[in-house]
Amino acid sequence: MSDRYNRQLLIENWDQEKLLQSTVTLVGLGALGTVAAASLAMTGVGTLILVDFDTIEMSNLNRQLFFRPTDVGKAKVDISAQILHEINPEIHINKLNMPIEKAPRHTLETSTVILDGLDTFQTRRWINSFAIGSHIPLVSGGIYSFLGNLQVVIPQKSPCLECQSLIPEEELQKACTPFGEVRKEIHPEEKEEEFIPYVSSVSFVIGGLMVQEALKIILGLPPLKEYLFWDGKAGIFTSVPLERREDCIVCSPRYQLKAIPIRSPSDQQLKDFVIQLQYSFNLGPEMAILFQTQKLAITSERVGKIFTSGAIFRVVDPTLSSPLKFEIIFD
Ligand SMILES: [Zn+2]
Repeated sequence: MSDRYNRQLLIENWDQEKLLQSTVTLVGLGALGTVAAASLAMTGVGTLILVDFDTIEMSNLNRQLFFRPTDVGKAKVDISAQILHEINPEIHINKLNMPIEKAPRHTLETSTVILDGLDTFQTRRWINSFAIGSHIPLVSGGIYSFLGNLQVVIPQKSPCLECQSLIPEEELQKACTPFGEVRKEIHPEEKEEEFIPYVSSVSFVIGGLMVQEALKIILGLPPLKEYLFWDGKAGIFTSVPLERREDCIVCSPRYQLKAIPIRSPSDQQLKDFVIQLQYSFNLGPEMAILFQTQKLAITSERVGKIFTSGAIFRVVDPTLSSPLKFEIIFD
């Protein structure tokens, strides 16, 4: 091993070999992603998987560490990989220039830890469900103006992002038509694209903390248990205790849909049921019901057969990485 890691080897419980054997996936090479990637490369994490389908814009340059004016228009993963290779030529970089939902699962499943520093709640939701389904720890960070937050999800041990209100309900519903359509009717003044205030000082704080948590997970040290909120203006860190939700649709082992009040339902009742399902679980218009792996058209005759006590059906939705499973229990 080169002298590169001498100083961190002095830290108690450090294991450089473990770091070199590890793979960290960075979803989003923006403000948090670039800061975190630079730190992980310096520390000598053996493999970094970079996932981003964006190209560089001039407005990224106030906070996204790797990019220069001459890079505008180029792919974020390409420039990031180039810089990371300069920082540490001893590590492997795997570039995925695509949305995370399209990334090959077998590649993502090699991750020791996933870091997500995204600003879209729907994608965050997808990653959360992927991390839970694949049993991969997730470190999720967010920034806004002088504020930042951080949460670590250890699948089946700690609460996931869906267990509590880190993903604001209104954001999900805004993203989920037909409710989004309804919202547009109610709030026609809302713009399609909302710009978020960002400053690099905040991304260095939260990006640094994300890496700290990733390193602790790799080294086998206990990770952050609580939701960490940082008010950079007041200079205050606040820890908020979190609890796993027994009926969480993503991380609870079984999703039970209790007391469906229909045995041979009419078409209208079925429509109501589907809307209730969408609304209860923030599902979008592309949601579909699966029964014995067949995608079902919602007709009373066919769906009527499903609604027997003990029957299991699945719901697929593009905002989740795998289907939700429901078991029907009549009261
Ligand atoms: Zn959960």
